[in-house]
Amino acid sequence: MAPSSLLISGGRVLDPARGIDEHADLLLADGVVRGIVGRDCSGPSGSYERFDGRGLIVSPGFVDIHAHLRQPGQEHKETIATGTRSAAKGGFTTVCCMANTTPVVDNRAQIEYIQAIAATEGVVRVLPLAAVTMGLRGQELTEMADLAEAGAVAFSDDGVPLASARMMRHALEYGRAFDRPIMPHCDDPELMHGASMNEGPVATRLGLRGMPSAGEEALVARDIALADLTGGRLHICHVSTIGAIDAIRRGKVRGIRVTGEASPHHLTLTDEWVAGQRWLGTGRPFDTNTKMNPPLRSEADRRALVEALRDGTLEAIATDHAPHAPVDKDCEFDAAAFGITGFETALGALLRLHESDDLPLELIVERLTAGPARIFGLPYGTLAPGVSGDVCVFEPTARWQPTMEDFVSKGKNSPYLGQPLVGRVRLTVFGGTVVYQT
Ligand SMILES: [Zn+2]
Repeated sequence: MAPSSLLISGGRVLDPARGIDEHADLLLADGVVRGIVGRDCSGPSGSYERFDGRGLIVSPGFVDIHAHLRQPGQEHKETIATGTRSAAKGGFTTVCCMANTTPVVDNRAQIEYIQAIAATEGVVRVLPLAAVTMGLRGQELTEMADLAEAGAVAFSDDGVPLASARMMRHALEYGRAFDRPIMPHCDDPELMHGASMNEGPVATRLGLRGMPSAGEEALVARDIALADLTGGRLHICHVSTIGAIDAIRRGKVRGIRVTGEASPHHLTLTDEWVAGQRWLGTGRPFDTNTKMNPPLRSEADRRALVEALRDGTLEAIATDHAPHAPVDKDCEFDAAAFGITGFETALGALLRLHESDDLPLELIVERLTAGPARIFGLPYGTLAPGVSGDVCVFEPTARWQPTMEDFVSKGKNSPYLGQPLVGRVRLTVFGGTVVYQT
């Protein structure tokens, strides 16, 4: 009989939810975390597998509350099978997938479809998000209570800003009734119209039409005011500007129920990358792998995001994993699709911020585990005894430069290709089963 226990020995166990940071042996058995040997439990009995964790960090499996798995309808970009394998390679064991598929996840049948495919073809946990409005059209709310009951963990029209303040107000009111967050993609549709990068000196130099920070900040401010009015829970997707951070910070001080997330790319890259700047060598300008929405912003915005993550204004890092097919990106900058592939490079990009002393390692792990779990009220992102055996073991000092072959995702659209990353996942365990190892 195969051993049902796994001992990860000698690693540095980081469990921010419990304030644990110590060198210890971690025991998993029968699909769940048994705990730290000598603290929570005794050593394994009977046959067991051992993974040598010396020199490695042992963290709860990462929780991503914002990703695009593309299924149903865009299987040429990604599927639940490839997306969850990509997530496992990046250390993620819980992935919340956005509703902007084809068809849109705006009814119970679509939620159940994703759950069924994830159960048979996925290798990590997939939790569906549901649309706020039917077809993401912004005109009629979905049956939110029914969708929540079916398993939608939150509601988002991500990809499309919700222009109607009245719709947002009602969504927050309904969401409050069953305690689910509304996750807006904040950008004023009229201000962003037809633009493809951040508005500012770089866009002017390149002759590209820009999206002003004001577009994001206007909708963030509006939605925080509506959260205040309704008492609903608001979670701002991919925060990218100084003004948006300020609004969230002030909202929190006033006791408004608002949270926010930052993406690895907004924390590490700027709009100069659109013009060809790289950490290593030079890139070509107008590289469509630097095109995303919200766009890469200024260095001042990037630094403010890092600070907001540190001081808790932003409580989560979310990848916004957005794989595309070559045909969506192999074109002129203006015509290219928005978004980048995110799972495999998230940790390696983020640990550059640790290496440069901008953020402590424990804090980065917290914002990838306990922070996002707290926002959605999920019982994951910790190594507490009895929780699902979800673990990520990584080498914090490993240096590597991603190539196309490193992406298990169907999407190879990454600005980090060929760039020096720090930190690499060595083992991912989901529900006590090894789903990735290198
Ligand atoms: Zn997104």
